[in-house]
Amino acid sequence: MKDPVARLIRIEGLVQGVGFRPFVYRLAGNLNISGWVMNRNDAVMIRVEGSADAVPVFIERLKEQAPAASQIDIINIENVFPEYLKDFRILDSQDLSDETSEISPDIAVCNDCLEDMKYQPHRLNYPFINCTNCGPRFSIIRDFPYDREKTTMSTFKMCAQCASEYSTITDRRFHAQPIACNTCGPWYTLHISNQMKNNFTEILRIIVQLIAEGKIIAVKGIGGFHLMCDALNPDAVKRLRKVKKREGKPFAVMFRDLKAIHEYAEVPEEEAALLVSWKRPIVLLQSKNKLTDGICLGLNTLGAFLPYMPFHYLLFDKLKTGALVLTSGNFAEEPIVIDNDHAIEAFKTVADAILTYNRDIFNRTDDSVVRLISGKERVMRRSRGYAPSPVRLLFDVDGILATGAELANCFCIGKGKQAVLSQHIGDLKNAETLAFYTESTERFLKLYRLKPSLVAADMHPDYLSTRYARGLGIKIVEVQHHHAHIAAGMAEHGIDEPVIGVCFDGSGYGPDGNTWGGEFLITTLDGFRRYAHFDTIPLPGGDVATREPWRTGLSLLYMAYGKELTELEIPFIRNLDKKIMALVTEALEKKINTPLSSGCGRLFDGVAAITGLCTKSLFHAEAPMRLEAAIAPGLTDRYNVDINATISFTKTIQQITSDLLNHVHVSVIAARFHNTIIWSIFETASKIRNETGITKVVLSGGSFQNKYMAEQAIALLTGNDFDVYMAGKVPVNDGGIALGQLVIAARKRDKKEI
Ligand code: ZN
Ligand code: ZN
Ligand code: FE
Repeated sequence: MKDPVARLIRIEGLVQGVGFRPFVYRLAGNLNISGWVMNRNDAVMIRVEGSADAVPVFIERLKEQAPAASQIDIINIENVFPEYLKDFRILDSQDLSDETSEISPDIAVCNDCLEDMKYQPHRLNYPFINCTNCGPRFSIIRDFPYDREKTTMSTFKMCAQCASEYSTITDRRFHAQPIACNTCGPWYTLHISNQMKNNFTEILRIIVQLIAEGKIIAVKGIGGFHLMCDALNPDAVKRLRKVKKREGKPFAVMFRDLKAIHEYAEVPEEEAALLVSWKRPIVLLQSKNKLTDGICLGLNTLGAFLPYMPFHYLLFDKLKTGALVLTSGNFAEEPIVIDNDHAIEAFKTVADAILTYNRDIFNRTDDSVVRLISGKERVMRRSRGYAPSPVRLLFDVDGILATGAELANCFCIGKGKQAVLSQHIGDLKNAETLAFYTESTERFLKLYRLKPSLVAADMHPDYLSTRYARGLGIKIVEVQHHHAHIAAGMAEHGIDEPVIGVCFDGSGYGPDGNTWGGEFLITTLDGFRRYAHFDTIPLPGGDVATREPWRTGLSLLYMAYGKELTELEIPFIRNLDKKIMALVTEALEKKINTPLSSGCGRLFDGVAAITGLCTKSLFHAEAPMRLEAAIAPGLTDRYNVDINATISFTKTIQQITSDLLNHVHVSVIAARFHNTIIWSIFETASKIRNETGITKVVLSGGSFQNKYMAEQAIALLTGNDFDVYMAGKVPVNDGGIALGQLVIAARKRDKKEI
């Protein structure tokens, strides 16, 4: 017999905890290949020995047929001498070095498991069914490598049957770390009127009844608790709003299936693919029919998602309603509750029943939120299903911690050439969220075996993330907010050359002492030149203006008309309290407590107020969202705008005012205003290209979550031979800032500037 061909294969990527080793094992068996596969903390290693025909086929299929949730990033293949191995084995995990392979995000229950749930005697209706292709991962991992003892499943002893499946190589649950069944796994407990129910059939029956009666139930999910009620029952939804102390902000809705969504929202094919993906994010869809009052709150988008836990499926099987509000179980800006005792205490006056289970959540994750923009998935809140998948970079970022922004915070650590972003943390001004932040930072450093030697932070001296960075006592790089936004887009797309950075957001610290946020920055990873920016708007009352857009509206009218603004016969002015108007106008005149901002979000706020769409904002970015929702489709005309180093919208405001005086419909005004902004992007980018020859444009900043603005800008620029890039794997909002900070700090270190 001829000597076998032997190869040593090293794979980096998302290959642990996603059924990769059993897949390799089966593949080897099919091709009559011997050798072994082994998890190490830095990679998966495979030795194969087989015929000269079989080995190349093995390598081909390895890449092409890998499990859905896995991802091969780097594959090294080495020719080695055969050891004449007789069979193919899965060897024990080896903890070799400080290198860490990837941690899988949590994966929605798979179709095979949903089938097993109907037929497997020991898993009939078992709500914690999982296999190597699905189930909890990141939320239960305490340490690496990914083995059961290092997860919160360690307290459950496998029964004989599970143990046999776990060790049977041909079984779909071979080495499925969270393997469990009705005999040995976790179970649910329903806490209702001082009683505890453990019979799952009874629990389901009670919950179905409570939902039908319009009650609210707190339910433990994969990464934290949800508050749940019938999305078609207006009273239930109203009560949920009240108890959650959430007046504004739409609720996300979980639907029974795709068909159920079609009734209430447009579901084009691309969005449907996102909805059913194993990540099961909340997808922002164009809404169609109204569910009930208090869900979408007059916006034209609906945040929809599909079941992802076995429990969700079992529940919808019995429920009459096909739509449930499933909102994060938290209050105001606090992190979602993950602990059973905490939940029982926190929700006892809020929910009519509390459903817990006895497997701990170690890493908290919210539901992720995505939106399809220009045909690509754009993550807006990056958590369950997405975190902690890394972003691969072209250069080394090892040993760097980037502490992120203050709102919608995510932090990021550098491991080799990978940027590992944390799950969505939230608003650090909230004390509990800040505690979650520091705890998670420490956990990530431990999990990824990292001792940071360099920390990157925002330039804003008062950001709590910056203070945290300063307190670490290591070398620090402070990065301008919008530079970081653009660099994040560059990093995701592997760009390392000068770009036209268009950064629109609410606010970020400007080195000139003003608040920035309508910025055209000629950007490299080394630095940036502020080529042009939106004209600054004085914000009467400072920060209060973000919650009270009428202040900014008044300020814009003051810039356009001076004190004459009080004579304007538009509803916005007529409806304002005359005394307050006089006070604010005087403050603007005397420049008392009117800090300057070039933030795009503020301009949108002001226009939303003047047009009467939103004078008071109940949730972050409500005013811009209402302005976007108002757009009449298909209009191409726009207003005038003065485009220089300072981009002035005074003429725009004057034309909006005369449109209002002429009773032009607000939807037309909204479209014209958006088109004006888009035009300013195109004009300014063209000027930069003419002067510098740069053709690559990176769009970033939270304002580009506006689908109309982003899509129209991308289309106009692309149609005029610009290469346009926008982040999608990381948020364009402040949740993506940490990635930009990380790469900028790494570049400074490379150039020995730090
Ligand atoms: Zn499964
Ligand atoms: Zn079992
Ligand atoms: Fe920002």
